[in-house]
Amino acid sequence: MFCEKCGTKLEDDAKTCQNCGAVIDDQPITPIVEEKPQIVYVKKPAKKNASTVAIIFIVLAVGLTLLFLGV
Ligand SMILES: [Zn+2]
Repeated sequence: MFCEKCGTKLEDDAKTCQNCGAVIDDQPITPIVEEKPQIVYVKKPAKKNASTVAIIFIVLAVGLTLLFLGV
């Protein structure tokens, strides 16, 4: 393994860098997980469907009213 700060080659069980004194962390860097944006994105279509159903219902109501008045 190598020091992340100065690049000096170190022993695998080294706790600190012998060259610059940096503390060595054995744990790998955790990748950033971005799940929240996806959840928000999934919620959007549901709202769109609800408004679409409402618009269709209104159009049908107006259409039926016009047909009734036309007769
Ligand atoms: Zn170092």
